[in-house]
Amino acid sequence: MSGPRPVRAPRGTELSALGWQQEAALRMLQNNLDPEVAEHPDKLVVYGGTGKAARDWRSYDAMVRTLRTLKQDETMLVQSGRPVGVMQTHEWAPRVLIANSNLVGDWANWEEFRRLEALGLTMYGQMTAGSWIYIGTQGILQGTYETFSAVAAKKFGGTLAGTITLTAGLGGMGGAQPLAVTMNDGVAICIDVDPRAIERRIEHRYLDVRADSLEHALQLAVEARDARRPLSIGLLGNAAELLPRMLAEGAPIDIVTDQTSAHDPLAYLPVGVDLDDMAAYAAKDPAGFTTRARESMARHVEAMVGFMDAGAEVFDYGNSIRGEAQLAGYERAFAFPGFVPAYIRPLFSEGKGPFRWAALSGEASDIHKTDKAILDLFPENESLHRWIKLAGERVHFQGLPARICWLGYGERDKAGERFNDMVASGELAAPLAIGRDHLDCGSVASPYRETEAMLDGSDAIADWPLLNAMVNVASGASWVSIHHGGGVGMGRSIHAGQVSVADGTRLAGEKIRRVLTNDPGMGVIRHVDAGYDIAETVADERGVRVPMREG
Ligand code: NAD
Repeated sequence: MSGPRPVRAPRGTELSALGWQQEAALRMLQNNLDPEVAEHPDKLVVYGGTGKAARDWRSYDAMVRTLRTLKQDETMLVQSGRPVGVMQTHEWAPRVLIANSNLVGDWANWEEFRRLEALGLTMYGQMTAGSWIYIGTQGILQGTYETFSAVAAKKFGGTLAGTITLTAGLGGMGGAQPLAVTMNDGVAICIDVDPRAIERRIEHRYLDVRADSLEHALQLAVEARDARRPLSIGLLGNAAELLPRMLAEGAPIDIVTDQTSAHDPLAYLPVGVDLDDMAAYAAKDPAGFTTRARESMARHVEAMVGFMDAGAEVFDYGNSIRGEAQLAGYERAFAFPGFVPAYIRPLFSEGKGPFRWAALSGEASDIHKTDKAILDLFPENESLHRWIKLAGERVHFQGLPARICWLGYGERDKAGERFNDMVASGELAAPLAIGRDHLDCGSVASPYRETEAMLDGSDAIADWPLLNAMVNVASGASWVSIHHGGGVGMGRSIHAGQVSVADGTRLAGEKIRRVLTNDPGMGVIRHVDAGYDIAETVADERGVRVPMREG
């Protein structure tokens, strides 16, 4: 019987598969399970609750074995983390096709999913866990940086210098907020009830200082703001208590958001409950705890709305706190928008989204060379330059060295082709795996997040991610995946991913040009179809054909 063991992708140029396309899939599967990358590698869990790379260890072994013998004209089929077939295809076809966690509509809920999972019939693939292109916390840091950069562009003349952001939650993902704000030159006050969360963020250099009190936090923030100096400040306390207090005292806050784990009421500390008693109370009386947590969230959101009324920029950062506050009876919970309709949708309309690549050589120098190539290719993009420079200084690689940045339609293909040329010329030590998050411009239907409040009301239309997967298969991606439930849970999202391997061959260059044009092209046409002006302009200027606008 095969069981848990440490997994690490091989480095260097020696192949254990029959070609680089297969080798890349193998190394990226193994990299997702590298203890430096995965949250619980022994359980095959990569990130995001229970997002897995393989269904069980036997399936993992079968995938490794199959990838090592897979030919250039064969395709391995993966059904929720288990290899179920190998078919003869052709060299333009993906080497791996993946479908994870999909359930028929009426059955698409956690209860049924967990029943099937317990029977060993499925697994939760999250987004990049089951599609083998997770790169550690760099992804969330960059996404958060991009969001705050979009806030700066929309409201503050392109920089957060001279502004104060107020937020809460310094956990696994929320902990990226202070650094993302300071990377945009702003000041952040970040509240958390758990002193360990504050200490951990300071240790990892994501957070600069800890304040002794609310007054101290405000004093530090105002000084830094006036000097236009970036600074992030940790403040211990309950957000549902501190936000109303700060509002009442007229604290000079410009931007408010939140990343406490509000999506799960048993993980949000109600006012009046001690942190040390939280777990026992939640376990003993989950219903009572939920009621109290929701009441606190209502006070928290009420204060956020108050800041909005006072002129601050306020948004929900994808943690469902508005929905929970509404359940507690607070009527204005949805008075402020989610971050996608507020800032990200204009980027999605241009086909922009999280583009990422990993160096299969294992050499950090390969990534540094690609960083330089990106800066040369897009000299005019200031925010991109700032990110690449800061990422080079501040991001520690986890597993295979990797980089993420947001590029749009007409940009990703340029970068991909340049990378392939760099592999061909020997400038890079080995090929690159080029992919993206499923949270992208034209690859996801998720009405509580990526497709919240679409202009034409098409939030729940899931044809788009399916078309996205099909066009990537038709364009020559190396592996393509269709998942359900990533990010927001069962029944709430359908999304697709692709990874393309730049192995330096002419064939790879041809495939990459098509995939990295058509994949973000889905974002442009999806937003043209929904009636977004920016998307229409991009389609006109960059030559994206939309039949309903022709003739
Ligand atoms: P986490 O559980 O690791 O951290 C949550 C933090 O909130 C903890 O440190 C906890 O101490 C703190 N907290 C709980 N109750 C509090 C209260 N009343 N006052 C102050 N602090 C409190 O969670 P995470 O991984 O950081 O994610 C946070 C939330 O953000 C989740 O709901 C997640 O789904 C959401 N999220 C959304 C996106 C997105 O949509 N792009 C991205 C990242 C995270």
